[in-house]
Amino acid sequence: MDLSGAEFRRAGYALVDWVAAHREGMAELPVRPSVEPGSIRAALPAALPDAPVADVGAALTSLLDDVVVPGSLLWQHPGFFGYFPAQASLLSLLGDIASGGIGSQGMLWSTAPAGTEIEQVLVDGFATALGLGEAFTFAGGGGGSLQDSASSAALVALLAALHRSSPAWQETGIEGTERVYVTAETHSSLAKAVRVAGLGSRALRIVPFSPGTRVMDADALAEHMSADRAAGLRPVLVCPTVGTTGVGAIDPVRAICGVAQGVWVHVDAAWAGVASLCPEFRYVLDGAELADSVCTDAHKWLGTAFDASFLWVRDGRALPAALSITPEYLRNAATDSGAVVDYRDWQVPLGRRMRALKLWAVVHGTGLDGLREQIRAHVALTTSLATRIEAEPGFALAAPPSLALVCLHLTGPDGSPDDAATRAALEAVNADGDSFVTHTTVDGRYAIRVAVGALGTGPEHVDRLWQALRAARD
Ligand SMILES: *Cc1c(COP(=O)(O)O)cnc(C)c1O
Repeated sequence: MDLSGAEFRRAGYALVDWVAAHREGMAELPVRPSVEPGSIRAALPAALPDAPVADVGAALTSLLDDVVVPGSLLWQHPGFFGYFPAQASLLSLLGDIASGGIGSQGMLWSTAPAGTEIEQVLVDGFATALGLGEAFTFAGGGGGSLQDSASSAALVALLAALHRSSPAWQETGIEGTERVYVTAETHSSLAKAVRVAGLGSRALRIVPFSPGTRVMDADALAEHMSADRAAGLRPVLVCPTVGTTGVGAIDPVRAICGVAQGVWVHVDAAWAGVASLCPEFRYVLDGAELADSVCTDAHKWLGTAFDASFLWVRDGRALPAALSITPEYLRNAATDSGAVVDYRDWQVPLGRRMRALKLWAVVHGTGLDGLREQIRAHVALTTSLATRIEAEPGFALAAPPSLALVCLHLTGPDGSPDDAATRAALEAVNADGDSFVTHTTVDGRYAIRVAVGALGTGPEHVDRLWQALRAARD
């Protein structure tokens, strides 16, 4: 029922040609599709074919050209400044093809020894390169894994935290007294993890910001935790964010670890953590070496096609202790020896593919220096845009720029944010197809977010966005 080797070569080479041409020509395409909900479904035949099509490779490229490209937001477009980047470098695609080609299922070390150990070498190497320190490496008693997402990382960190707080949890489930500490800027994936774990939103404590900032107030955290303890509640997890999704703010991880006192600290550095590869941005992970777990996405700003999210833990036994369940059919000598990592015990699903290969291809194809260079280039572009925003009448920064993220308002005659004008400017920018931006609110006021991070974005693309913003003001 499959392609022959010869057929696969023919269709595969053609598909590689298609991807290369798509990337080469992408800048000429509109970054945002013009489609209506349901229009794509309506254009596709509802019934699946009983018989094979004549040439599935050709049919696939037709689908890409006719349906997928015109119906997709082009995240790899150099004018993409929305959300956070989702860099899918061609380098990483090599590893993705290899992963599918091997077709291994890495639930256990014994089902994928090479995939498991390549992943271990990569996560240890990145822990070192990011300055997290020995404690988060396998050699140092900790360890890391490549999760499918920062959201999954937060969920399993919460499960490990629940387990450490009360191992009886596995038998009796949650008690309802558990509490999880976040801020109003914490990513929604923490609220989702709390919900999935069955704690209910009452378990979420929203710690206030330090006055005049958008970062967690460590003193207020200490007060909340001791008040909760006094009331018979049980703090289980604190989640500082390094690079909030709204404005890129960085919670004071070191101070938070100082007051957490044995409560699990999970650092969510999904977007910004990779900047710590550069010595001048190492400050972003300051204090993270004191945390219990740290997450940063390789699939945002580290060139690696979705999905690949680093999760390191200080105690390499914590996730297996919380999650491992071994039915007879998964028993094997390597696991029994205790000498191997079975990555099924570090995640919710049993099965997993070799995510390590795409990250391997990225870091070997570009070197750590190549990764550092692109991070620096994106920060420099953002800094120059922020300087222009500050100097321009009718514009204001909505928050201090953070790495490669800047948030802005259009302002009224008195210099205060003008929500209607800012919203209209976003719509005007996104209408012309050259650039794409998204929004947030800062202190209740509508703000445009500009997240620089597509691999092809250069000064000319930032200039074009800036001209479009200024035109929208005029
Ligand atoms: C993007 C982001 C997430 C979610 O990332 P996924 O990997 O898509 O789950 C979580 N936290 C922060 C701070 C983020 O920026």
